[in-house]
Amino acid sequence: MAYLGEPANTIAVLQKYNFNFQKKFGQNFLIDTHVLEKIVDAAGIKKDDFVLEIGPGIGTMTQYLCEAAREVCAVEIDRNLIPILEDTLKEYDNVEIKNEDILKVDIRGLAEEKNNGKPIKVVANLPYYITTPIIMELFESGTPIESITIMVQKEVADRMQEGPGSKEYGALSLAVQYYSKPEIMAYVPENCFMPRPKVGSAVIRLTRHEESPVDVCDEKLMFSVIRASFNQRRKTLANGLKNGGGFGLTKEQIEECITELGYPVTIRGEKLSLAEFARLTNIIKSKTN
Ligand code: SAM
Repeated sequence: MAYLGEPANTIAVLQKYNFNFQKKFGQNFLIDTHVLEKIVDAAGIKKDDFVLEIGPGIGTMTQYLCEAAREVCAVEIDRNLIPILEDTLKEYDNVEIKNEDILKVDIRGLAEEKNNGKPIKVVANLPYYITTPIIMELFESGTPIESITIMVQKEVADRMQEGPGSKEYGALSLAVQYYSKPEIMAYVPENCFMPRPKVGSAVIRLTRHEESPVDVCDEKLMFSVIRASFNQRRKTLANGLKNGGGFGLTKEQIEECITELGYPVTIRGEKLSLAEFARLTNIIKSKTN
């Protein structure tokens, strides 16, 4: 039975092992059974699923995942947590604990080995400073992913869902929406964690698109265009693209591309939708060939 969601049980385990929270690993453990049930529910875990959990902590969510899934692999960077995990997960025979930095794990190989290369579900409650690199790595590496259900800082969850016109809209929104459908599943207050974080949190599910939502000739070029456009938010799109290296085009050619897209050359990058960035990329590519 999953028991760690009860704060008293978490405290007992922490005391038994005299555990010291490590700030550098962003350790805030969940202590709310409703939130834990909600995450597993949001991830849509079924009995035949293989689940990769990133950052299991003392195994609180892992217990729920083990009960819901066929097999769980939990990757934890902090070696001091490994004996604790071996204890709290001892009654489950469907979990493998790996003491590694997730950024160094061959996740594609893991999906191959554990799920016959079929898309896997990822569940994570991670330090917020590594959320974006991990999500991008999961998507960009071509790892077969069905969905990522992840606890993130509330503002980051909002940013992932935003479209043109919003202050929060940016390169992260476009990258997430290019690869997946983002849905905020729950907002989680500070008092659901031990110790309490200083920021509000949200659970967001990113369901990977089966087919690309836009028609773009060069994905890498599109992300370079997007990054250049948002690097200098207050500048026009034309200046952003020019200062971002110009993509082998003169200022006049860049302006021609924007005109061809159907916008005045004074437009800012934040006004463009994902489909428009894709079209702009195709236009830029056609001029550089
Ligand atoms: N999942 C647990 C929970 O909800 O109670 C713990 C969440 S805590 C916010 C983040 C966990 O991720 C910590 O256990 C931390 O040690 C681990 N972690 C941090 N960086 C990591 C990395 N690069 N790879 C794997 N685990 C990491």
